[in-house]
Amino acid sequence: MDNKRANKLGIALVGLGKYSSGQLAPALNETIHCYLAGIVTGTPEKADKWKKKYDVPEKNIYNYSNFDQINDNPDIDIIYIVLPNAMHREYVVRAALAGKHVICEKPMALTVAECDEMIEACKKANRLLSIGYRLHFEPHNVEMMRLGRDKVFGGIKRMIAEDGLAEVEGWRLDKGLAGGGPLMDVGIYCVQGVRYTTGVEPIAVTAKEGKKKDRKRFRDIEESLTWQMEMPDGLMAECKTSYSEELNLLRAEGEKGWFELSPAYEYEGIKGRTSNGNMKFPQINQQARQMDDFADAILNNRPTPVPGEMGRQDVKILNAIYEAMQTGTRIVINN
Ligand code: NAD
Repeated sequence: MDNKRANKLGIALVGLGKYSSGQLAPALNETIHCYLAGIVTGTPEKADKWKKKYDVPEKNIYNYSNFDQINDNPDIDIIYIVLPNAMHREYVVRAALAGKHVICEKPMALTVAECDEMIEACKKANRLLSIGYRLHFEPHNVEMMRLGRDKVFGGIKRMIAEDGLAEVEGWRLDKGLAGGGPLMDVGIYCVQGVRYTTGVEPIAVTAKEGKKKDRKRFRDIEESLTWQMEMPDGLMAECKTSYSEELNLLRAEGEKGWFELSPAYEYEGIKGRTSNGNMKFPQINQQARQMDDFADAILNNRPTPVPGEMGRQDVKILNAIYEAMQTGTRIVINN
């Protein structure tokens, strides 16, 4: 083992798509407590390319059939699942059975029952499970948590959270693989934003599907959606997500002032303002911080701040929002 890798935990990325290649692999060049040790891919050409680019040894390259043999590989401590949403459950369970710690991308899974199975599998294997919630390690978003939870601008009376993309393609448009439309993919950041800014859980939700401009493309999934999350203390959070409009806002209005991020959920370039002026925080590599924190949690035998239980709660809320959308009724969330 060379010096660079000494005392670091090895991560294997499963699914070498856009997020793995564009964000996670480059971030693993900046991490202190972990490094890219292995890859799992169904495409031999990708394996070749990654092997050269990231210096991944042949013995640490797997495909979806021999994946479970990772069990015997001491180089790999953490398996990071970066596959389409509907595949998360199977691969998290297989990673736990292989005796590895697991990071799973958002949304954790399609149903609460799947999340329970994933949490149980990791508990049984005595391995840690975390969800790829990078914004919990991003300074502007962390400041939103402080301002909201410490009631720096008084109790929050109103919240607005919006996240949307103007262009999407591939499995994200396939309900079977994505589990839904923009709500599952980017709307989840609004649910997260409201939860971590207030520090409390929604009591009930109402929702309304937006009018479809492209009925063919969005045959099986919503093109856009607005929903309300009823929080304790009378706060109503107004949220919106879309696959045909760029949206990127997290705003809270308190009794004594307001605070917001826009853009709020990007990989870089997040900007924050309050009624007292601009936030001044550095831009950091969110994915590097997130993976380093997980490695540190394992090394120091402490819990992760973004565990499977947090992912499960989001999946529960997402499903309640869909139920509210489909039935046109207010859906109570039992916490
Ligand atoms: P992508 O389409 O770019 O990559 C998906 C990968 O899965 C590809 O390498 C593809 O070959 C592989 N795959 C294996 N079986 C497949 C199948 N049956 N159908 C389609 N692809 C299959 O997607 P992505 O943008 O990298 O997203 C992957 C996961 O990461 C998703 O769960 C997504 O929500 C999540 N994600 C998270 C963030 C974040 O900021 N945390 C950002 C982007 C994506």
